[in-house]
Amino acid sequence: MIKVEGRAYKGKRLLEKHLNGIRITRNEAIIAKCYDCEGGYSDGIKECNISDCPLHPYNPYNKSNLCSET
Ligand code: SF4
Repeated sequence: MIKVEGRAYKGKRLLEKHLNGIRITRNEAIIAKCYDCEGGYSDGIKECNISDCPLHPYNPYNKSNLCSET
């Protein structure tokens, strides 16, 4: 069982599921990736503001998030 370091924001459980071979949805994968990319939000949750990232419109903390399931 792979455990992920980092605070227990949304994304941690999803990243752990992925790393343990459990299938997650596309939207969940985006949430998990942003959690990973942000280092587990160790400095607190925030929008990353990297607008040239293709996932930025779907970042779970982007105020204009395009995902409907976050
Ligand atoms: S949107 Fe931001 S946090 Fe998410 S993967 Fe891209 S750069 Fe990383």
